[in-house]
Amino acid sequence: MALARCEHHGKPKGRTQTYVQSIKPLNWPKTAAVCGLSGCKRAGLIWLNESESRAYVSDQRVFGFNNASMKVRAV
Ligand SMILES: [Zn+2]
Repeated sequence: MALARCEHHGKPKGRTQTYVQSIKPLNWPKTAAVCGLSGCKRAGLIWLNESESRAYVSDQRVFGFNNASMKVRAV
């Protein structure tokens, strides 16, 4: 499942996932996606694991997060 991290915090080190690609959320950098790290309010890039990255190449644009609390749409 995808993660959002700002450019400052960079590539996430997942415990169960390996993130291989970041993509820009819709309307980057004025996006609704916010970095998921505690206390950070910067705009977040969407980080994808291997299978999500293949789906992105195949034109999937909606990705879910680990806790199913929201989804984001990428450009
Ligand atoms: Zn951040």
